[in-house]
Amino acid sequence: MVQGSVQNAFSLGQTRNFGIIAHINAGKTTTSERMLFLSGVTNRMGEVDHGASTMDWMPQEQERGITITAASTDFAWHDHRCNLIDLPGHVDFTVEVERSLRVLDGAVAIFCASRGVQSQSETVWRQADRYKIPRIAFINKCDRQGANPEQTVKTIRERLRANPIVLQLPHSLEDDFDGLIDLIHFKSRHWDESSSGKSFEDSEIPEALKAEATLARDTMLEALAEVDDSLMSKYLSEAPLSPDEIKQALRRATLAMRAVPVVLGAAKQNQGIQNLLDAVVDFLPSPTDLEPSVGVNPVNNEPEVRAQSTEARASALAFKVMHDADLGQLTYVRVYSGKIRTGDKLLNSSKNRLENVQQLVKMHADASKRIDELQAGDIAAVIGLTNTSTGDTLCDASSPIVFKSIKFPKPVMRLALEMSDLDGRKQLVLALRALESEDPTFEVIEDELSGQIIVQGMGELHLDVIVDRLKTDFRLEPTVGRPQVAYLSTATDSSEALVVHDYFSTTGPKKQSATVAVEITPAEFESGIKTIFDKKCELSKKFAKSIKQGLRDAFNEGMSGCRATGFICRVTRAEITEADDQTLLFKFAALKAGREALNRSKPMILEPLMHVEVVTPDDSVGDVMNDLSARRGKITGIEARSGVQVVSCLVPLEEMFGYSTDLRSRTKGRATYSMEFIKYESVKKEIEEKFLNI
Ligand code: GDP
Repeated sequence: MVQGSVQNAFSLGQTRNFGIIAHINAGKTTTSERMLFLSGVTNRMGEVDHGASTMDWMPQEQERGITITAASTDFAWHDHRCNLIDLPGHVDFTVEVERSLRVLDGAVAIFCASRGVQSQSETVWRQADRYKIPRIAFINKCDRQGANPEQTVKTIRERLRANPIVLQLPHSLEDDFDGLIDLIHFKSRHWDESSSGKSFEDSEIPEALKAEATLARDTMLEALAEVDDSLMSKYLSEAPLSPDEIKQALRRATLAMRAVPVVLGAAKQNQGIQNLLDAVVDFLPSPTDLEPSVGVNPVNNEPEVRAQSTEARASALAFKVMHDADLGQLTYVRVYSGKIRTGDKLLNSSKNRLENVQQLVKMHADASKRIDELQAGDIAAVIGLTNTSTGDTLCDASSPIVFKSIKFPKPVMRLALEMSDLDGRKQLVLALRALESEDPTFEVIEDELSGQIIVQGMGELHLDVIVDRLKTDFRLEPTVGRPQVAYLSTATDSSEALVVHDYFSTTGPKKQSATVAVEITPAEFESGIKTIFDKKCELSKKFAKSIKQGLRDAFNEGMSGCRATGFICRVTRAEITEADDQTLLFKFAALKAGREALNRSKPMILEPLMHVEVVTPDDSVGDVMNDLSARRGKITGIEARSGVQVVSCLVPLEEMFGYSTDLRSRTKGRATYSMEFIKYESVKKEIEEKFLNI
């Protein structure tokens, strides 16, 4: 049972739904742990370094020391209900970031005081920009060698083009970091290490730091006055500004995304966490600060606006589906309006299906707590939904609305899995399908023609974790192939094909035939393949299913083994004679028609293009760049940063195998790199010719 979890004791205005975003290792997990500890949700502190953190609860996460599944939890802080979602920083798990950002109202961005803005923090920052999420910044690890909050603030301004307003000044840094000056209240604060940071003492600012603190406070007020007109006039008149006036102005500026308040600390040393939590409550939005949610009325396709209020009709967005060994399928939802109670029937308006709310639970990492009611602003899990997937809207059936869904990137890496026997294969497919329903960036392809099972994901780490989960959660140990790039093929022209598939039988009518004709029209690459049947092909559902299956096999096989996507496939003719097995006959005819139409559509092969950022010492920069060029890389920028060079580059994923070992030996282990998927791009002519055997 969870202690200290809060439910509906606070109004909507006292609710903060926020997430933590950062580059891997900046200290998200440590900071979340400290928040839970100081707010009383846990009475023991988890340490990521000992593999015992409360938020990173999947065994894979504890072993690897990274956060894979966004765990959510809630706690109370100063008369406010805070719903915290811990997000991963590793780009292989970008889907977790994307779907959580969709339902959060505000975010804390954590930066390492000695590293500043790192590539993944930049990626997540841009994602948060896209969702217009107000942010505060926490500069962590002020106790670390090389800590330089000032430089970090500079990188926030320059690289993220944000407007950071610093609210604190450290007494000292690195090993001597022992407290902060709060520029709003103009006080010094020291934490008591023996209480694990629970207690602290406020005192007058030391004489030696007064001048510097006064200057820093002026800088803060000036920056704030520039973005808040109502503070400007008072600031210009030089009238004294109360802490409340300053906080209100900061809140307005943060909500308008005109400023990012910056607080400092060292989570590991339990310093600065209370100030960070105060900043969450003081500056991040409540659901009442947000614009009403806009969706579409599925009945008349007109825009539909829903106030974020408990009084309005119920509406919610499903943002994550998970299988729990004890509770079954959990669907995480963010409630935008009204109330949802146990026993309610809700409409899944994205799929036009009714769903039963059997139970409502608040999750705290892997522990759960039943509740009877959810209301606007809440984030919790629903049990009992059978047809709802990530991105679907749930609402009161009498007042339907569909919210904009969540966009997910396409998987770029593939792996073949094999089991030694048929029974094992069946179990493997079931397990993989369960994992697939949790994760929209993970795909399972059963290649019926080769008998292989192919899984596709966002990177080697992503697929590694899947293979690990098969072992630990499902006790399955398939033979695992070599990770390969997931090439795709797509149609560039319209095409048609008509196929008559004959079968000569010894038991039934001698000659049995199925005729299938299809047309392919190129469409947006992102939209996958849409298969539609012309009205004139009057087919029973059973046959439509086998034709679709035949086409799916043809398109999964794609051009030269590169799965096809990005077109509309219209079935214009489907006829059959009497036959021993009409479904099978139709399937083969469709398979052949699909292959032929794709062949005639002037197909093009596409490969994933990655953004690679290498941080290298000055003396290796030339070598690093030459190597990237040899890997078909296009250098997009070089930036000098204290003693290192940061090289940005676009490189096809195919060229990046073995890069970490290569970079290590080239730079004697002094360079690091990160990589992120950007888009699919057509491959060069020579490579395409190799693929198409021209
Ligand atoms: P995450 O990947 O962002 O979740 O980062 P973690 O919380 O797992 O922390 C990464 C590493 O940084 C761990 O070894 C932590 O102990 C360490 N760490 C976290 N906060 C601090 C801090 O304030 N100071 C120092 N020196 N190390 C920290």
